[in-house]
Amino acid sequence: MGQTASSDLIGSILQSIPPDAQITRIEYEGPRIALYTRNPKFLIQNNYVIANIVTSLKKRVVMRTDKVIRKPEEEVRDVIRRLVPSDAEVKSVFFDEVLGEAVIEARKPQLLSQEKGFDTIDLVDKTGWRITTRKSPNIPSIALENVYHTWKTTAEDRGKLLKDIGENVFRPRLSNQAEVTIYTLGGFSQVGRSAILVVTRESKILLDCGIHPGAKNPWDAFPRFDWSETDFADLDAVIISHAHLDHTGFLPALFKYGYDGPVYCTEPTLPLMALLHNDSVKIAGLEGNNILYDLKDVRESIKHCITLPYGLVTDVAPDVKLVFNNAGHILGSATIHLHFGEGAHNLVYTGDYKFAKTMLFDGASWNFPRIETLITESTYGAKEDLMPSREEVEMTLVRTINETLSKGGKVVIPVPAVGRAQEIMVVLNQYMSQGQLTEAPIFLEGMISEATAIHIAFPDYLARDLRAKILEEDASPFESPYFTVIEHASNREEAIQNGPAIIMATSGMLEGGPILSYFEELAPSEKNKILFVSYQVAGTMGRRILDGARQASLVDQNGKIKLIDIRAPVEKIEGFSGHSDYNQIIRYIARLSPKLQQVIVNHGERRKVENIAYVVSRMFRIPTLHPDVREAIRLH
Ligand code: ZN
Repeated sequence: MGQTASSDLIGSILQSIPPDAQITRIEYEGPRIALYTRNPKFLIQNNYVIANIVTSLKKRVVMRTDKVIRKPEEEVRDVIRRLVPSDAEVKSVFFDEVLGEAVIEARKPQLLSQEKGFDTIDLVDKTGWRITTRKSPNIPSIALENVYHTWKTTAEDRGKLLKDIGENVFRPRLSNQAEVTIYTLGGFSQVGRSAILVVTRESKILLDCGIHPGAKNPWDAFPRFDWSETDFADLDAVIISHAHLDHTGFLPALFKYGYDGPVYCTEPTLPLMALLHNDSVKIAGLEGNNILYDLKDVRESIKHCITLPYGLVTDVAPDVKLVFNNAGHILGSATIHLHFGEGAHNLVYTGDYKFAKTMLFDGASWNFPRIETLITESTYGAKEDLMPSREEVEMTLVRTINETLSKGGKVVIPVPAVGRAQEIMVVLNQYMSQGQLTEAPIFLEGMISEATAIHIAFPDYLARDLRAKILEEDASPFESPYFTVIEHASNREEAIQNGPAIIMATSGMLEGGPILSYFEELAPSEKNKILFVSYQVAGTMGRRILDGARQASLVDQNGKIKLIDIRAPVEKIEGFSGHSDYNQIIRYIARLSPKLQQVIVNHGERRKVENIAYVVSRMFRIPTLHPDVREAIRLH
């Protein structure tokens, strides 16, 4: 038997496995221990065997099929064609050689479940591959295919990498003393370049790795690794809360400058992040800017990603366990719960979160078994940052769009590709199909449809009722006939010339992207409307226009500056934000307050972090901090 996991561990595992399981190898696989078997049917039918090992070891253990029993891909495709009912509409099968997993992408994956009478065990038995299923979107997701492709072409490297990561995670601890310090590298007393370095006696972990979208020089644009004197090669892990660039934009640069360890994120965060990173490279290339990293570095970061679902306890260092939980902000967004030592300290970093249900997501989870330190965002942390109820917000949106459409005008909505775009799509579709919103074509341009496809592929991460619509009823609001996707700039004319329309395009803060073409053509006419639905970071063009600028300068492709007079009314609808408003932040902390020892407030402009810190210390009598960038704080 090939053995790479430590012999103690192997001994105790082997003791609890009956010989019928035909285990041939026990190996580290990143933060998990993989048992390779020649008899997967036995282990699936006797699932208590693995459950018992997990309980006794308190480590994640997974079953993998031995390579010798895995049938060649073509044969497996044949078996799938024969055994899978045609109503499931299989679109493609992706083979992950490292994990021995075949992912079946089907239009109706729900038909491939045990409950629906489909025999998955038989399929595993006949193919020698573990089988997972996924909903295939109507529009193919290039980002998801890109992730699969990268994993496929780097399978050998990735296999070795996972072993190395495992050896690092499960290395013996040096001491039983727990010390935890955080270094504020970015996103403190500001919004942008989120990054927190967590240092214990044993390990160094980075939480988020963003850029500041409005910053003009490197000292303000990137996390202050220079100040913390972080050698990227020394990091044990990077943990990503969600895909937005202000939390992930610097990640590929870590790989460019020497990081070679794991990146933990949720399953949808990976393709969303890949989408945004590839786009950043593309935009930097178009604008002739200095490229922070290139596609090779993006590929490296994809190769190093280990995806985890919500709620799963995972060892990420000898003295640190990680759990992701729903944050309600965007698809796959997670709060990061770190457990240090044997019960020494618990830190929850919220990332961006919404503590209320929206059309897309359930509200952020709050039911942590233990929590001593909370790091909370405070984007909408001022007293006056109160959002109207969802219904009111939706009605305001419907009213203001109807007003413009009835005058024959067009509504231009700048949206970030990921998050608000899908929320607005679901709302528009609902009100239009109910007849409350005037019927008009809704044009989508930029990465919106690509990001939407990823939402369809991961319905488990959506609110329950929406998930059911996508899976059970197959009435996905994302795939409504009201939407027209503009795939090429040459098709823009249709949206710009013809009658009343709603146009949603990226980027959300008017910092580049196809939105600028629509803005240039449509902003000068008072018949149209510019409608903001998302947060506008200080320093961006979106923020300047929202703050009242009636002229905007655009740089055309030849580098010439063009002045645009803004005669179209500019409106902002508050309340579609994926962030908690002031009340929701306070309510969230109130829920956690019996257990909290301290609250650290970040991800907000200075006034906002100050206000939340002040209110929390007064209201709950909990010590609070609202540090700047470049501070070290001892947690334990
Ligand atoms: Zn965000």
